[in-house]
Amino acid sequence: MIMSKDCESCQKKLVDIFYNEENMNNEVKNHIKTCHSCKEFFGRLYQMKDIMDKAKIEPSIEYAEILQSFKEVEIIKEKRRNLFDLILFIIISGVLLGLVALLIVEKYLVEIIYFQLVMYIIIPLSLPVIIKIRSLKEEYNERY
Ligand SMILES: [Zn+2]
Repeated sequence: MIMSKDCESCQKKLVDIFYNEENMNNEVKNHIKTCHSCKEFFGRLYQMKDIMDKAKIEPSIEYAEILQSFKEVEIIKEKRRNLFDLILFIIISGVLLGLVALLIVEKYLVEIIYFQLVMYIIIPLSLPVIIKIRSLKEEYNERY
């Protein structure tokens, strides 16, 4: 559609009016009354404004995205926590194995037996505690 010179200048003025940079004058008013395409153009400006306003008031899409990214952060945190637990386990068992190896090297056989006895007592006793802490952590994660 070819726009007439009048329509072109009218629509430029309508944009200015829309942004409150210019007041509606009689020339523009009369043009809109007779020109369908300029009237439609003016209406579309306000439709656009409506859509933009609604997008700001109802940020449902953004809210969902924010929630999703929070979940992703939680998953990453959980993975890190599991990795940390694994590393801690490796370090602790490494230290214990190192101690046993050291005792074997030093031929402290009696101490090894004591050590093993202590471990046999401590591990079964500490296991329910570890499981309890673990399940409490998971309950906390499920709730929040
Ligand atoms: Zn026009």
